Amino acid sequence: MPFQIIRNDITKVTCDAIVNAANKSLLGGGGVDGAIHRAAGPELLAECRTLGGCATGSAKITKGYRLPCKYVIHTVGPIWWGGFFGEKEKLESCYRNSLQLAMEHRCESIAFPLISAGVYRYPADQAVKVAIEQISTFLEDHEMMVYLVVFDRKAVSAGQKRFREIGEYIDDTYVETSMRYDIRNRKQSLPKVNTACNEADTCFYQEKMEKAPSPQAVREKSLDEILETMIDESFSEMLLRLIDEKGMKDSECYKKANIDRKLFSKIRSNPLYKPSKPTVLAFAVALELSLDETRDMLMKAGFALSHSSKFDIIVEYFIKKGNYNIFDINEALFAFDQSLLGS
Ligand code: ADP
Repeated sequence: MPFQIIRNDITKVTCDAIVNAANKSLLGGGGVDGAIHRAAGPELLAECRTLGGCATGSAKITKGYRLPCKYVIHTVGPIWWGGFFGEKEKLESCYRNSLQLAMEHRCESIAFPLISAGVYRYPADQAVKVAIEQISTFLEDHEMMVYLVVFDRKAVSAGQKRFREIGEYIDDTYVETSMRYDIRNRKQSLPKVNTACNEADTCFYQEKMEKAPSPQAVREKSLDEILETMIDESFSEMLLRLIDEKGMKDSECYKKANIDRKLFSKIRSNPLYKPSKPTVLAFAVALELSLDETRDMLMKAGFALSHSSKFDIIVEYFIKKGNYNIFDINEALFAFDQSLLGS
């Protein structure tokens, strides 16, 4: 099941489990820990007192009490000391152990804050990287809806150095669009040329008219018959064909597309399924289509890639670069405040 990055207060997220970036005592603290204890009520602290603390990198589970979730999974992230003291491995194990506990309690959905990226000073961009890597690896073999809740605007933002190249690409592409706009406007203000058909045009249209079926014949055919002969391969048919042609398994494709299994089954069983644009693009990325093939697939669903949409330009940037990692693309889309790929 899919993975989404969202901007929210984790205490407001409705799902089976939320993760708390706790300290070793498990007796509450500041940041997200404080917010979770305040929202859950004093019963949470009472249960935490019975747990005997928690080691860095480990995780323990309690009930959610007044929170809109069944469970709180408390994990203790590493304090950042420059990255020389196994911080990365400890942070990775926070994600792994939390996901393991969630599985053991049959959770279908879980929300993580950016563990260690607050008071514990783990650099936010690196903390995001660890989170995405661990969550996406877990999702390769498991079904769960996972949210990464990014509270602090600066943690993933378009202004960061790593997104600079994408920002420049957007700027350049926007410039192209506005230049075209200028040219069109200028053309409109030019004096009109004579648009009457010349002789060759007239012949061409006469010929076309003669070949075209008479209105009577058209009327006699039912709309069903006309549609039958005119309708092309549908989006769903194209998708299934490409999955076969690429030698992929269905599950491999919908996982790479960050698409929910149930949505995939719906598309599979309905040849006339009308997907949303992010869904089409998610599959184009999963199938590693070229830009032209992506455009074809979009057309099947009645869409196009436009240079007046930041969303389109960002996806185009990744396809052109040959980077088909949907989580990288979604991280960039999130940084630029765009909707994400997948379901
Ligand atoms: P740590 O001690 O592990 O660094 P913090 O609570 O200080 O934990 O911060 C972890 C991350 O959680 C930070 O990125 C911070 O911005 C974020 N955060 C703080 N409050 C909330 C909240 N209510 N919901 C989601 N994330 C939050």
